[in-house]
Amino acid sequence: MIKGRCLCEGVQYEYDGELTELAVCHCQMCKRAQGTAFATNAPIMSDGFRIVTGQELLKTYFSSEKKKRVFCANCGSPLFSQRTDRPEVLRLRVGTVTSGKIPQPAYQQYCESISDWFMLSDATPRYMQGKT
Ligand SMILES: [Zn+2]
Ligand SMILES: [Zn+2]
Repeated sequence: MIKGRCLCEGVQYEYDGELTELAVCHCQMCKRAQGTAFATNAPIMSDGFRIVTGQELLKTYFSSEKKKRVFCANCGSPLFSQRTDRPEVLRLRVGTVTSGKIPQPAYQQYCESISDWFMLSDATPRYMQGKT
């Protein structure tokens, strides 16, 4: 069982299944949609996924003709995407998961668009909590 929620906690979801294949997506649209260097998404079956609270907060944006991106209208958290020609699959935004096992990424895609400014090494200082 996977559980998750948006930042404001208005939207809470559950998934009866496991996350099996984590994709790191470097495409330009995912960067814009997440506001960061890449997205981490996991395909899940729509029929095991349910919104527990906050259905009325879900807002949909079609970033292309057949692909909608669904987010919380209150706090803006991206939650999942779905293609109209493959409605049986959702691509869950893994950063919203709060309980359940998350595997390591299985692959990266759109690597031609990798953000060359994003490079973490052991030399990058690490802090617990936010740097003050
Ligand atoms: Zn929210
Ligand atoms: Zn993408």
